[in-house]
Amino acid sequence: MGSLSELFAPESVAVVGATDREGSVGRAIVTNLRDEFDGSVVPVNPNRESVLGLDCYPDVGSVPDAPDLAVVVVPPQIAVDAVEEAAEAGVENVVVITAGFSETGSDGAARERELVAVAEEHDLNLVGPNSLGVMSTPVDMNATFGPEKALPGSLSFMSQSGAFITAVLDWANDQGLGFKDVVSLGNEAVLDETDFVREWGDDPDTDVILGYLEGIDNGQEFIRTARDVTDDTPIVLVKSGRTDAGAQAASSHTGSIAGSDEAYEAGLEQAGVQRVETVQELFDYARALSGQPLPDSDGVAVVTNAGGPGVMATDAIGDSRLSLASFSDETISALQDALPDEANVYNPVDTIGDADIERFRSAIDVALSDDGVGAAVVVSAPTAVLSFETLAEEILALQEKHGKPVVTCLMGGESTEAAADVLREGGIPNYFDPARGIRSLEALSEYRDIRDHTVEPPAEFDVDRERARDVLRGAKRRGDNRLGVEAMDLLDAYGIPTPEGDITDAPEDAVSVAQDIDGPVVMKIVSPDILHKSDIGGVKVGVENEDVYDAYEDLITRARNYQPDATVIGVQVQEMVDLDTGTETIVGMNRDPQFGPLVLFGLGGIFVEILEDTTVRVAPVGRDEATEMIDEIKAAPLLRGARGRTSADEGAIVETIQRLSQLVTDFPAILELDINPLVAGPDGVQAVDIRLTVDTDKL
Ligand code: ADP
Ligand code: MG
Repeated sequence: MGSLSELFAPESVAVVGATDREGSVGRAIVTNLRDEFDGSVVPVNPNRESVLGLDCYPDVGSVPDAPDLAVVVVPPQIAVDAVEEAAEAGVENVVVITAGFSETGSDGAARERELVAVAEEHDLNLVGPNSLGVMSTPVDMNATFGPEKALPGSLSFMSQSGAFITAVLDWANDQGLGFKDVVSLGNEAVLDETDFVREWGDDPDTDVILGYLEGIDNGQEFIRTARDVTDDTPIVLVKSGRTDAGAQAASSHTGSIAGSDEAYEAGLEQAGVQRVETVQELFDYARALSGQPLPDSDGVAVVTNAGGPGVMATDAIGDSRLSLASFSDETISALQDALPDEANVYNPVDTIGDADIERFRSAIDVALSDDGVGAAVVVSAPTAVLSFETLAEEILALQEKHGKPVVTCLMGGESTEAAADVLREGGIPNYFDPARGIRSLEALSEYRDIRDHTVEPPAEFDVDRERARDVLRGAKRRGDNRLGVEAMDLLDAYGIPTPEGDITDAPEDAVSVAQDIDGPVVMKIVSPDILHKSDIGGVKVGVENEDVYDAYEDLITRARNYQPDATVIGVQVQEMVDLDTGTETIVGMNRDPQFGPLVLFGLGGIFVEILEDTTVRVAPVGRDEATEMIDEIKAAPLLRGARGRTSADEGAIVETIQRLSQLVTDFPAILELDINPLVAGPDGVQAVDIRLTVDTDKL
């Protein structure tokens, strides 16, 4: 697949299925193209001589020069043939508008497979099928059947919903927001979101990549691509639709906690994508990111002529990742010089209700000069001594002078419109609501961190892969796909510390294992059919040597009573781990259909699902990311020695997360896995319990 630049800047476009029939899609597309497009438009239809005044050809092969792009609108039954014909005529870029493919059931799915085969054979850049079309403003191309065309600009937008594009354009045109390219992704049989992220990442005319996505096909590839692109170009997405495709009947804690939306949340964040919830936010972000410089620091100055709204702005800053800048002495005395005595010269700066342009201007100027100020928000209520339009012009000039981001909240209705237009032209967003203004500054701060963030490659530990494979095959040998504590060696093979212990299948053996272990022991029932051992009294903690024999028999009896047909492998006898100085954590993995292995870390023990103090990352997880995972849980202070506790060995936790990440990356056969608890103490970690599910066919 080549670069997609010709798809967006063709010199000629063939419309296959062009027609003049009123109300038809073929007519709408020809009309949209004919009216504005810089290049030539070639209708193709064997039943017409001309369409809307343009010469019509019977097939793409008869067009004298092969068109750069073919837009296909013929009925589904002949669409694949039409694409093939265009490809054979030398067309390399195809947009299939026609619906009736995989979105419609098994016949459609079969048709889509044929389409993919044709595209692969001819190495086509194919958009769709079931697409609204594509647009590109530099060549005035509107190859869609939508009613609206985009204004020129520097945002490139992709959407998995065609209807959403028409709605967005209608709205964006009202707002004066302009686009470079727009693409309706349709069924994404060939080109998908990752291809467009890559394309726009290389496109100097795209300042911000925007998307409305319901799903991401290949999460791992998307993360890799987006990480690269976001070094230069922000990506902002609305991800809707909480699919439950991944929520299989989970048999692990991790499986029940780490579902599909957690995967998206983590995956998009790791990709450097800014995820927003609403369309309004999508375009607030877009406007800020395309029109404003990035702040060097997160200190914000608020300059206002109105107390109340100034407080609203201050509150919004408090709720955000930004902070209210504290001014230098120099700034304060300069403000004292510029403002009347009753004014507030500390942040938020209140120039008071009678502030005229000059007073406002100097306050903003002084505030923006302060090194501790990364950005400013100007909040103003309408007054008789102030022209919003003049203020807007002054603000633009000051922004230019200082090169720092500024947003405005010129509050009011009609009286603000002319000023808002002036500001918009200069790339400054104006919002009535201070919270929205602060949010758009936050978007800039977020992106600055994304741009500056480097992702270190995951570590590769020296592990015993063959031994691990052999442990996993143990499930297969038993005709099962589940493994419990009998798979402790798997952890050992990957260098994750486990307490001393063994599985026994006779009480005498249990006694002899216990005698080899210092002090009292822990004994646990070992059965793939018993998910949570302690629920049935299947875990005995602090068993003295003389009680081991009876404890063994008791555990077996309990298992039998609980579930007479349960497969009982035996009883594990395990060294006691110190839970007074250690904290029970969980490290686990669940496999997501889109993103692959998700690694989970959190507060562990038997109440994990109740507390749900956990966080996830898409594997592979590097050291920095593993460290961030610890930072993110609420119980982090517990691990770091709150209330006189001794801090846990954080390095050992971080390493365990990384080693688990390597294990689940090395073995796609592992579907779900819990180490719960991983006891994290001052002198290291101990994996006390494990349970996993494997796909034995993949071993
Ligand atoms: P399950 O999760 O199936 O109930 P575990 O092996 O996780 O079984 O044991 C349950 C709880 O028993 C653990 O969360 C922990 O509090 C305690 N426990 C288990 N093994 C040990 C051990 N070796 N040392 C100290 N406490 C343990
Ligand atoms: Mg457990």
